[in-house]
Amino acid sequence: MTNDLSPRQTWTRDEIRAVYELPLDQLFARALAVKAANWPDGAVQKSQLLSIKTGGCPEDCGYCSQSAKFDTGLKAEKLMPLDEVVETARRAKANGADRFCMGAAWRSLKERDLPKVAEMITAVKAEGLETCVTLGMLEDGQAEALKEAGLDYYNHNLDTSREYYGEVITTRTYEDRLETLGRCRKAGIKLCCGGILGMGETREDRIGLIHELSKLTPHPESVPVNKLVPIKGTPLAGSEEIDSVELARAIATCRIVFPQSWVRLSAGREKMTQEGQALCLLAGANSIFVGDRLLTTPLPGMDRDERLLESVGGSCAKC
Ligand code: SF4
Repeated sequence: MTNDLSPRQTWTRDEIRAVYELPLDQLFARALAVKAANWPDGAVQKSQLLSIKTGGCPEDCGYCSQSAKFDTGLKAEKLMPLDEVVETARRAKANGADRFCMGAAWRSLKERDLPKVAEMITAVKAEGLETCVTLGMLEDGQAEALKEAGLDYYNHNLDTSREYYGEVITTRTYEDRLETLGRCRKAGIKLCCGGILGMGETREDRIGLIHELSKLTPHPESVPVNKLVPIKGTPLAGSEEIDSVELARAIATCRIVFPQSWVRLSAGREKMTQEGQALCLLAGANSIFVGDRLLTTPLPGMDRDERLLESVGGSCAKC
């Protein structure tokens, strides 16, 4: 309990399990104490995510509509033109987003695409938004080029525990992911790194994921906690749904383990009740994705988001 208010990399898996499995009232009380001390204004950060290159991805992430390996009915598209990206970013800002994330369905960033993405980053930054991209794996020098273009955050999730990872994806390793995260850190880019729950993993895998994330030095500045959105045609489409209390438990644990990081209630909100989402915000989440879509899956939309934030008394991070 003594170290709850400052980030530390010394968490053991047993310690994280003990937190995760506290009686719910004690877990929430502890998470709320951390939140009150580190985030006294109760602000909720809003990000908007745009798919700048949809579908046709050679990777086999078992949850993803964009993998070319699964028949999900999604049509592959080319890289979006710069003006469309900037227009969407402007609208996002007008709707209250303060961070704009651009996602491309690539295994890794190709040298030929780097200048185009760099141009997008610079243009979005010039609109007064924080910038984030998720482009797959990075090679030496690419993170530096993205940073130079004005990149604030790189999103690259660990997805799940080390043990369960092979059930979800086979075309890139856990180590590959950690290497890309390391390259971003070396280039001075902030990290957005979390995982997806409800992919058929056990609670122990959820604890394992949080433990792996806790070892990153420093901790990711943003920790997205996604709830699987089952996509017909993907191998994980039939996974047992994770309930909102278990999701809130994972979020409260993240709040405690990552006291100074944004913890984002990320994908999967569309299918959750208002009460389930509110529970996750009460558990310590202080960031959400806004807009109509999250890459290729729907989001609840602005009106429902406003009602949600009003219901828990949260304001946007920049209001
Ligand atoms: S999650 Fe990303 S890397 Fe994996 S298949 Fe989907 S687009 Fe490709």
